[in-house]
Amino acid sequence: MAIRPILCIPDPVLREISTPVDSIDNEVRTLISDMFETMYAAPGIGLAAVQVGVPKRLLVIDLMEPAEEGVEPVKDSRVFINPEILSESNNLVPYNEGCLSIPEQYAEVMRPDRVHARWLDEQGETQEEEISGLLAVCLQHEIDHLNGVLFIDHLSRLKRDMVVRKVAKLRREGRIAA
Ligand code: ZN
Repeated sequence: MAIRPILCIPDPVLREISTPVDSIDNEVRTLISDMFETMYAAPGIGLAAVQVGVPKRLLVIDLMEPAEEGVEPVKDSRVFINPEILSESNNLVPYNEGCLSIPEQYAEVMRPDRVHARWLDEQGETQEEEISGLLAVCLQHEIDHLNGVLFIDHLSRLKRDMVVRKVAKLRREGRIAA
């Protein structure tokens, strides 16, 4: 396992449309374990393959049930390969989102509170589930990455430009890798 560098805006790879995973081979399995290691180290709750420079339709999520003070959070790692949203609710809810590719910036994004999703798990089995709550938010955010979309694209132009400027400033100050 290895921690891979996470691409940050304005890296153009983040705007690529990821291509489907056609076989879950050793390369894909290594990518998945590296993505978990990278996400836990960051730390973050979701990571799309394109964020580590591999534009494949693959993402990992672990909402890590917050445990009590001083107790290790319980890991709940989930792998979504070629995920699709089949339907979504009309009820939009706000969530204050962040992104490992947009360091230290958070903004409220409105998204459907429930989605019906289908994907392949790590064994290549088709999974289909009605998903709600934080997992629904996170899954939609990560699927956006597979389509070259970032959470800031859901904001007003004014807010988006402000976030982009703040990240550019962090880079100038050497607080994120160039
Ligand atoms: Zn993100």
